[in-house]
Amino acid sequence: MTFNELGLSSDLLKAIEQKGYTTPTPIQQKAIPVILDRKDVMASAQTGTGKTAGFVLPILQILTQEKTQGKRKVRSLILTPTRELAAQIYDNILLYSKHSDIRAAVVFGGVNINPQIATLRNGVDILVATPGRLLDLYGQKAVNLSSIEVFVLDEADRMLDMGFAKDINRILGIIPPRRQNLLFSATFSFEIKKLAAGILRDPESVEATPENTTAEKVDQRIIMVDKGRKPALVAQMIQEGDWHQVLVFTRTKHGANKLAEKLTKSGIVAAAIHGNKSQGARTKALDDFKKNNVRVLVATDIAARGLDIHLLPHVINYELPNIPEDYVHRIGRTGRAGASGEAISLVCNEEYAFLRDIEKLLDLKFKREQIAGFEPTETIEAKPEKKEHRRPQNANFKRNDGTANRGDKNSAANKDKSKKYYKNR
Ligand code: AMP
Repeated sequence: MTFNELGLSSDLLKAIEQKGYTTPTPIQQKAIPVILDRKDVMASAQTGTGKTAGFVLPILQILTQEKTQGKRKVRSLILTPTRELAAQIYDNILLYSKHSDIRAAVVFGGVNINPQIATLRNGVDILVATPGRLLDLYGQKAVNLSSIEVFVLDEADRMLDMGFAKDINRILGIIPPRRQNLLFSATFSFEIKKLAAGILRDPESVEATPENTTAEKVDQRIIMVDKGRKPALVAQMIQEGDWHQVLVFTRTKHGANKLAEKLTKSGIVAAAIHGNKSQGARTKALDDFKKNNVRVLVATDIAARGLDIHLLPHVINYELPNIPEDYVHRIGRTGRAGASGEAISLVCNEEYAFLRDIEKLLDLKFKREQIAGFEPTETIEAKPEKKEHRRPQNANFKRNDGTANRGDKNSAANKDKSKKYYKNR
């Protein structure tokens, strides 16, 4: 299939051609015609599938075709969980709209609000926003949301994980009830389905990859190693493999800083990216990484969420995530849009329960490898599953066989643990 067959305007086709895309990705093939048909969409797609163009292109087409009179009003609102993702979606909009007169803006927290207020005052057609800053701007009467025609909730699962449920509901109460809704999520837990049911009207389901499965082109390796030997092993792998763009995941912000420091000391230029870093520092680290000035980007799950890094060949899980779905998200950073990639997880004794949780979610069993010189000295054995490390509040996810697996009920204790966990990232 070609982009010509999707019913897009010549201005959009020109921008797509200039970007160098020849074939629409599966999510684009499925989502674009449905969105152009003005239907609500519930899309199962993670970053790396081309989902951004999957909703940005038809939105641009709709807004251009159905022109309105008078001053520009926000006609499409795109909500995303993180600043980085918001910035990336905005960049995509600029790129695809360069031959049209659509005006877009992006607003997120952590930066001065005044320039955002000024931009909004000039009038925009599409607004990309993180929930908190959008509500701030609304509170200051700096944004009018009464003309929204197309509403996008991107990365809905991460929105809920990050505690945005209340903000989303407030925003839903502000925007007009008659509108087209597009919901994107990598995983579909019970909570996401509940949220979707409250937003979408008679939606079409669109799937890019089977739920909760990792991309086929990603070679996944599990290496058993003692915790204390992990920094040296990471350094050796990067150096011996002569890898030049490596994304490494740690569980905590502190761990990310420590590893970046250690790698830099051993001659491998590394930068850390996490929630404690200023927006400027995060953008710089990401830019340096994309330009190959930094060889290794060490990131926590939340910071890395949605990062658009082209054709990333190597992802290392320095520590396994304690939420198994995060493994799927991490793996989504490699083998992007048709390219192949390698995801290596370094697993020590105390992470064994996490490994089993991931295998359970994916319904497969990984081969355990050892690297010469780094053989584990601790006994690697299945420990009893630690309840406190299991996904607490959102323990409901759909398995590959389609059956829902309900975890612990939303106990107050579990909610507390969830909060604490995210605070450290
Ligand atoms: P996304 O899932 O939207 O973050 O997109 C993942 C990556 O795929 C981005 O770097 C896009 O620029 C790229 N991409 C999107 N659509 C296509 C396409 N049709 N062909 C090739 N690459 C694409």
